[in-house]
Amino acid sequence: MDKKTTNSKVMIVGGGISGLMAALSLDSLGIGSIIVEKSPNLGGKVKEYSQVFPDFRSGKNITKELIDRVKQTSRILTLVSTTATSMEQYDGGFSVATSDSNRHDVGAIIVACGFDVFDARRQEEYGYGVYPNVINSLELESLLGAHETRGGKLLRPSDGKPVDRLAIIFCVGSRSKRLGNPYCSRICCSYSTKQAIEIMEMNPDASVTCFYMDIRTYDRGFEEMYQYAQELGVKYIRGRVSECSALPNGDIQVRAENTLLGRPVQGVFELVSLSVGMMPCPDAENIARLLDIERSKDGFFTRKDSYFYPHDTNREGIFLAGTVTGLKPIKDCLTEATAVGSRVAAYLNGK
Ligand SMILES: Cc1cc2nc3c(=O)[nH]c(=O)nc-3n(C[C@H](O)[C@H](O)[C@H](O)COP(=O)(O)OP(=O)(O)OC[C@H]3O[C@@H](n4cnc5c(N)ncnc54)[C@H](O)[C@@H]3O)c2cc1C
Ligand code: SF4
Repeated sequence: MDKKTTNSKVMIVGGGISGLMAALSLDSLGIGSIIVEKSPNLGGKVKEYSQVFPDFRSGKNITKELIDRVKQTSRILTLVSTTATSMEQYDGGFSVATSDSNRHDVGAIIVACGFDVFDARRQEEYGYGVYPNVINSLELESLLGAHETRGGKLLRPSDGKPVDRLAIIFCVGSRSKRLGNPYCSRICCSYSTKQAIEIMEMNPDASVTCFYMDIRTYDRGFEEMYQYAQELGVKYIRGRVSECSALPNGDIQVRAENTLLGRPVQGVFELVSLSVGMMPCPDAENIARLLDIERSKDGFFTRKDSYFYPHDTNREGIFLAGTVTGLKPIKDCLTEATAVGSRVAAYLNGK
């Protein structure tokens, strides 16, 4: 095969919102791409969210719109339930083998394999994985997403009882040197506040209590969302939770130290959600090895130069999009993925 005729295509590893938007950005510049998605469906995590902060649009609709646009163009090939298995570089491009026993010659690769969430079983004091009514924030998203089919109610996992009293524990697995994650995950204060608002709007008689270390609602519209949550009656207690324990009826007793008042507090809740921090994508290590690109100490991929080449890796022809470089909200992922398209086009043009 004459590689020069095929190497203007781009392979995108990961078909979440970042990968999809990168493909659409390339398409708008007349460049074809192949999206390789490991799971059976495109859309990544956002397709599971009923509403997203800060404007409460439907996560399902955002992903549907991206997927519809991808389907409308013949320049984007999507391969689901597929991964990249090996890569060889040749003069002017890469030859990538995929798990469907095909080989693709491409001029550049974009890594958009997303992120993972912290495994809350590592913080044993919360009882995640032991008590069914202690869940993580992604599981709360699924419960919120299912409420339309469940009579508009949030039902708890152990016995299907409608939830009136919920606790949300912030900073689980983030900001902890002991757990090896000293960083702030940036968006969990905001997504937790959004979840609290969704619950209060669904059921104005509900009681939602947030146990936080600090509130970091840093971006445009995020602080207003935090204020709105308080107007709806969401309670914020500054305190570190020391223990969750299950009562015989499945309710969860939460003990904490109110660090503003300097005294212990406790409460009983029907459901507890842990706002887990963000971790690198589970395949980050394999992908780094396969493509021979660098990761930083925290496990996220390293940008060549965060000021002047924020989308480039240390290896020429391989680029980064979305949460592979650290957690960011949907809008930032889409902006970044659009920019990656231009950067890759400039790179291919330069070749
Ligand atoms: C609980 C929770 C709630 C959130 N709520 C909001 C919100 O309300 N508003 C907001 O702005 N942001 C929110 N976010 C953040 C949002 O989830 C991210 O911004 C978004 O998912 C990033 O998209 P992505 O494409 O970079 O990654 P992902 O969504 O993780 O998608 C990555 C894709 O890559 C695929 N993949 C992984 N490994 C491979 C591989 N080896 N080969 C091929 N494919 C692979 C995955 O299957 C997946 O489809 C929330 C996050 C969490 C955890
Ligand atoms: S964004 Fe909020 S909940 Fe998440 S780690 Fe930072 S301070 Fe904690």
